[in-house]
Amino acid sequence: MKGYNTLFPMGFHYTGTPLFAMSKRLRDGDPEIVGTFTKIYGIAPATLEKLKEPKSMASYFREDIKKGMMEIGFSIDWRREFTTIDPLYSRYIEWHFQILNQKGLITKGTHPVAWCPNDKSPVGVVDTMGDVEPDIGESYLVKFQKDRVFYPTSTLRPETVFGVTNLWINPDAVYVRASVDSELWIVSREAVEKLQHQNHKVALEREIPASELLWKTVQNPVTGNEIPVLPGSFVEPDNGTGVVMSVPGHAPYDYQALTDLKQRYHDSPEAQILQRVEPAAIIRLEGFSDLPAADLIGKFKIKDQNDPHLEHATQELYSKEFHDGIMKENTGSYSGMPVAKAREAIVKELTQQGKIETLLELRNAPVVCRCGTKCLVHILENQWFINYGDLEWKTLAHKCLDHMAILPEELRGEFNYTIDWLRERACARTVGLGTKLPWDKSWTIEALSDSVVYMAYYILSKYFTKDWVVFKKFEKDTSGLPDAFFNFTLLGEGTVDTVAEQTGIPKRTLNAIRAEFQYFYPVDMRHSGRDLVSNHLSFYIFHHSSLFPEKQWPKGIVANGFVLMEGAKMSKSLENIIPLRQGIAKFGADPVRVGVMATAELGQDTDFSEGLAGSIGERLASLIGQARKLGAKKVTGKSKLSMLDRWMVSRLNYAVQNATTALDRLRVREAINIILYQLDNDIAWYNRRLGPKKTKSDNRGRILRKVLETRTRMLAPLAPHTSEEIWSRIGNRGFVVQADWPEESEYEKDPAADRAEALIRQSLDDTGEILRATGITPKRIAYYTGADWKWQVYLKALKAAEEKMRQGDFIKDVMGDPQLRALGKAVADYAAKTIQQANQMPDEMRQSRLRDGIVAEKTIFVDAADFYQREFKCAVNVWQEGDPTINDPKGRARTSEPYRPAIYLE
Ligand SMILES: [Zn+2]
Repeated sequence: MKGYNTLFPMGFHYTGTPLFAMSKRLRDGDPEIVGTFTKIYGIAPATLEKLKEPKSMASYFREDIKKGMMEIGFSIDWRREFTTIDPLYSRYIEWHFQILNQKGLITKGTHPVAWCPNDKSPVGVVDTMGDVEPDIGESYLVKFQKDRVFYPTSTLRPETVFGVTNLWINPDAVYVRASVDSELWIVSREAVEKLQHQNHKVALEREIPASELLWKTVQNPVTGNEIPVLPGSFVEPDNGTGVVMSVPGHAPYDYQALTDLKQRYHDSPEAQILQRVEPAAIIRLEGFSDLPAADLIGKFKIKDQNDPHLEHATQELYSKEFHDGIMKENTGSYSGMPVAKAREAIVKELTQQGKIETLLELRNAPVVCRCGTKCLVHILENQWFINYGDLEWKTLAHKCLDHMAILPEELRGEFNYTIDWLRERACARTVGLGTKLPWDKSWTIEALSDSVVYMAYYILSKYFTKDWVVFKKFEKDTSGLPDAFFNFTLLGEGTVDTVAEQTGIPKRTLNAIRAEFQYFYPVDMRHSGRDLVSNHLSFYIFHHSSLFPEKQWPKGIVANGFVLMEGAKMSKSLENIIPLRQGIAKFGADPVRVGVMATAELGQDTDFSEGLAGSIGERLASLIGQARKLGAKKVTGKSKLSMLDRWMVSRLNYAVQNATTALDRLRVREAINIILYQLDNDIAWYNRRLGPKKTKSDNRGRILRKVLETRTRMLAPLAPHTSEEIWSRIGNRGFVVQADWPEESEYEKDPAADRAEALIRQSLDDTGEILRATGITPKRIAYYTGADWKWQVYLKALKAAEEKMRQGDFIKDVMGDPQLRALGKAVADYAAKTIQQANQMPDEMRQSRLRDGIVAEKTIFVDAADFYQREFKCAVNVWQEGDPTINDPKGRARTSEPYRPAIYLE
């Protein structure tokens, strides 16, 4: 509508594990997925049978979604449709990865990855239940010792080892004695698998029940103290090693657990052991007692170890001690060191002595694979990675981002952060659909790696479909389509003659593809979800900046929120999901479209409500009703426009201006408000002012047609079906989507008409208020507009206020005018009053009133007299203060002022 060719294509991403996992769950008869498919999506049981095979499931939903997109009226160029497992798409991804490899951006190495032990495959955000990005973090294993057996305890604060009073193990868990890298370790049964995945050589010796370990002692690796192993049911066997060191002086959890334990055992033989376990202070913290953990237990009024506030207390203390804590005298050579520094030093020393190791953990555990298995950290050897840590590549990505529009702009920081933070990322899987890594066919390129430059493929896919005679042979043998084909069409490298010769593709086809790519690329705006900023959208920037020359780099990204349902997140458990096609069937396509967008603020979630969709449906129907009433016959009347007509046209122009600005900035909610609601209010006022009867000079039909036609153009992108219906009913040819977007006309904006209607409306409201307050049923109403001399003084006052003239000087100036002075004290009084008003007036209003000068208020009110008569059902007179024929029984005219006529009722 604004004169640009817009490419709106659609493809289907089959790559990865989700499809596999879902079809497997269906094959296994998982009641949850059967329920979702039958109850929410309304899939018949017979059809369900067909979905048990991954590709059939994909095809089913592809068709369903495609129908939904057609029904909702997306103008998608379906000639370009493809899936990411089409042979030629795979060939394209091979080309993409070959280039990355040639540029040295693919590395083979040994790195920790999040891992599904069942699939024996790395997992990323798309492979996990609930789309959780696994977060790998490092913790320390401080090794306590008894004879030749080690008790490795997992901690983030190795410097507190000086304050350890006991170890905790879970009394109900099973522990094992195992040889780990030629040492004997005691760890939980669950920890064994973790250690194995992190390249430790583990040989199980035997299982040990917790009871066998409890109440025995072990030796602290730095102090040499003998400390007991105590029962702690809060210890999670699958967290760390299932053995925890206890620092009650500085860890609120430990302090509370110890207190609880002493209470529980105070009558038993173990009390004797517990008696000797006393919290020890090893870190000095300004403003705290010797035992900061106890201080925080008191501050948060914690009752027992299940108190949720323990977490807050812990967070607060850990952070305070890390930043401000100083190691105390009882910490040997670390005495006097800040905690942060001591941590570094002690790790170094204990590493040298073999008393500490590191353990990698999923910080946001449990992370569950789509196959239902809990994920863990795996050190993957000889795996393929995309090296987002490459500094030159980061520089390119930043350069690309710096030239992009990011909407909303506040997300730019997140992009910058992601670009800086990203490192090697595993790019292949052993399971799932997709393209094989071209140089190592045992690996399949994963979903977030084969989906970052597919936008360029839309140009190719059209030709692959259209000229299938030419390209069909390559589908069977994709190796016949050489890299040179992509290099020429997408990068402009090589010559058309060599590629034509090499492939047998006609030169005109190759040239046409190249020309079309250059026409549409780069992507002007990529619309996506804001949850994808930290992965997919950042990868999109990275890969474009490396693969394509700078002029083909993306120009902008728009990140949208989710669609909420009546304020709540859509979820299967809440049963508040409406699949798109069911929504369309229930409300109609346009009400769903407008209903979703009407509450949309860029980057935030939008809230769909059935009530809103229903009321939008009614409003759209009423627009069609207006169109029906106006009919297809054009009105050719040429009578002069009244002030009121000009007001309506002026309002329309402001609506065009404001809606255009709003849509340019993707403020869709605001645009809908203007186009759908505000203009309805204006039309209502226009009709009310005109009244029911038709007169010769009535331009109503002409004006309303103009409004509706303009409005329909603006409504077309939002509610296309309704707009086409209106467009046709009011006698236009062709499609409104092919019409031009309306342009505002400065000429049709009419400040005088705007001012006049504002005055009329203000006096209508004022009169109504007086009537309500007094309860009078009037026989006659008189409006008195201000005298000419008041206008003179009023404008002088506005000017004086602009110039910041002193009040005394202003009054002197007014009274210096002999004609005004002749009118006596009334002038001086009015001057004093009006200069105060002028000083308090908002600058903008003062300046516009100054520009407008004297307003012919009497004429405006005389014109509106029949309107007031109709509204108040009584006689209405209009006079200007000082009119020789004035009828002013109560002397009201005296109180009139510019913009504030006096009102008299009887
Ligand atoms: Zn799995």
